[in-house]
Amino acid sequence: MTGIVFDIKRGGVKDGPGIRTSVFLKGCPLRCAWCHNPESQLPQPETAADGTTCGRAMSVDEVMAEVLPDLPFYAASGGGMTLTGGEPLAQPDFAFALAQAARTAGIHVALDTSGFAPWETLARFLPAVDLFLYDFKAADPTRHKALTGTDNALILANLEKLAAAGARIFLRCPLVPGVNDDAAHLAAIGDWAERLPAIEEVTLEPYHPLGLEKCRKFGKTPLLDQTEFPSKATCDAWLAAVRARTSTRVVLA
Ligand code: SF4
Repeated sequence: MTGIVFDIKRGGVKDGPGIRTSVFLKGCPLRCAWCHNPESQLPQPETAADGTTCGRAMSVDEVMAEVLPDLPFYAASGGGMTLTGGEPLAQPDFAFALAQAARTAGIHVALDTSGFAPWETLARFLPAVDLFLYDFKAADPTRHKALTGTDNALILANLEKLAAAGARIFLRCPLVPGVNDDAAHLAAIGDWAERLPAIEEVTLEPYHPLGLEKCRKFGKTPLLDQTEFPSKATCDAWLAAVRARTSTRVVLA
């Protein structure tokens, strides 16, 4: 079994609990305006003008050969492997095989997903994944479509089903000043977290413009040409607005 992988990062602490190895799978059905990995979106490998390639075929064994050496760190820190991308569910068989291989080795598995996949695809991962890192990008369906290319009906229906099925979920919310940080969306984030006990944490992810350079490098036109990081005051206001609606832990990424 092989898949297209565009990066493997060891020693990370942001994509789930503890020390983690993040495996980045290529391909994504969405087109988020702020995408920080625009070179991940197409399913096939891509080559930049300077000859840099993004994506290569790897077997499950090759990926696991990079994941397994950090087993002692996972064990000591409560960490593990995170499948991310791109959208891991765009390569469902490969992602599932990786999750199973990690589980067999006793490694905690997190799946970072937009949730935009048939429920049957997502449900298949329930027995193989310890923690779902689930994106919530915009509460309003029209705004969601404008910002990502699709409305959020399937994504929110899947979130409900995932919670009902007993999954552990961290809700991950990218926030871009003036784009999707309106009061109604911040309130909706808190309300979803309050209503679904399966959501153990809300992670607010402040926009960063690092995707812009990657867009240019790979010959893509940025959908959002916003170069500034949100200020601390803005981030604090986001935290306060969401915390006002829920007792669930709310943190900044
Ligand atoms: S879901 Fe993630 S990888 Fe896909 S377009 Fe959005 S930000 Fe980029």
